[in-house]
Amino acid sequence: MRSLKELYRIGYGPSSSHTMGPAHAAEELLRRAPRLDSARVILYGSLAKTGRGHQTDAAILDVLGAERTEVVFDTESTGLPHENTLDLIAYCGGEEIYRMRAMSVGGGAIRIEGEPVKDAGDVYPERSFLEISRLCTRSRMRLSDYVFEREGDEIKEHLSAVWHAMSAAVERGISAVGVLPGGLNVERKARSLYGGGYTGEREADREKRLVSAYAYAVAEENAGGGIVVTAPTCGACGVLPAALRYCSELVGAGEERIIRALAVGGLFGNIVKTNASISGAECGCQAEIGTATSMAAGAIAELYGMPIDRIEYAAETAMEHQLGLTCDPVAGLVQIPCIERNAVAAMRAMDSVMLMRFLTGTRKISFDLVTATMYETGRDLSSHYRETAEGGLAKLYK
Ligand code: SF4
Repeated sequence: MRSLKELYRIGYGPSSSHTMGPAHAAEELLRRAPRLDSARVILYGSLAKTGRGHQTDAAILDVLGAERTEVVFDTESTGLPHENTLDLIAYCGGEEIYRMRAMSVGGGAIRIEGEPVKDAGDVYPERSFLEISRLCTRSRMRLSDYVFEREGDEIKEHLSAVWHAMSAAVERGISAVGVLPGGLNVERKARSLYGGGYTGEREADREKRLVSAYAYAVAEENAGGGIVVTAPTCGACGVLPAALRYCSELVGAGEERIIRALAVGGLFGNIVKTNASISGAECGCQAEIGTATSMAAGAIAELYGMPIDRIEYAAETAMEHQLGLTCDPVAGLVQIPCIERNAVAAMRAMDSVMLMRFLTGTRKISFDLVTATMYETGRDLSSHYRETAEGGLAKLYK
């Protein structure tokens, strides 16, 4: 399995391939041509065809500066090395000083044409949860220590940056107001959810309201083109931060415990990514929101110091009851049903952990089994329910 650095990526929403990747390419141009005083970026293929809807240009302009950058949508060129190709050209005093062709290859990663792929390779020899849990049980090691041992201590720095980016997205989201871009006229709701505003609220309702507010906050930031963390994707980026933020506030957990929780949550995401899929286009929303729910449940169970068996039980339950969940974003935007779904999933993650406080030793389904089941179910789903916006709510909503 690969490093958690490849799973948790920080960047511009709402799409890891259409905003996060191109923005990373723009950052790379700035690194390579720091003298640039103007720039031109040409988008091709899918980036050119759907880039306006996905706010690709806005993410690039944010990095390079709107006043000195021109973004061109070239829908005509063919023979591209990749469907998401872009050329980035830097100028200084009107002279071209640097040029590069980049490809946004998915998950926020980029490749530069003519350069070897930067690849850390596999850092985890184990692929399944069974292998990992056996190893940890034998060596009396927590799952988070297993992650630190395999990745090296520098992963803690990355996870700390991930947590700060997640927290910043929550803060921005619960203060923002207005309508999200894209034409669906979806109003931001995180702020009013966070504010509450009705008397006699029961404690259980307050908990659900706050968790939902955090999830809405991050998912709305994503839909609005703000900076988020893929967990495991942009569309499902609100689940883990919402549940982890609420639970860490509840128990007064400091950053060290939160980093351990993120390590364990990431481990579950990595297992799904390695053995199945985290892509809504490939396996429906169960692969995105389902995986995010498992990640959140595993993270909270670690935060609460549960033993490995219960952590697995929580992560497995979180996924099991989302099997078959379809991907049907209205108008292809990551708004309806995605934003609300993040909130429901965050609550489901917490419910799964709560259940595991009482149930143990009776489990019949393993995390590896539910992962394999999700993959098979996803492959059997009609393509209408795999991010095509041709089925479900996307088809029937007018
Ligand atoms: S419905 Fe589709 S686009 Fe929306 S969160 Fe789920 S997988 Fe992502």
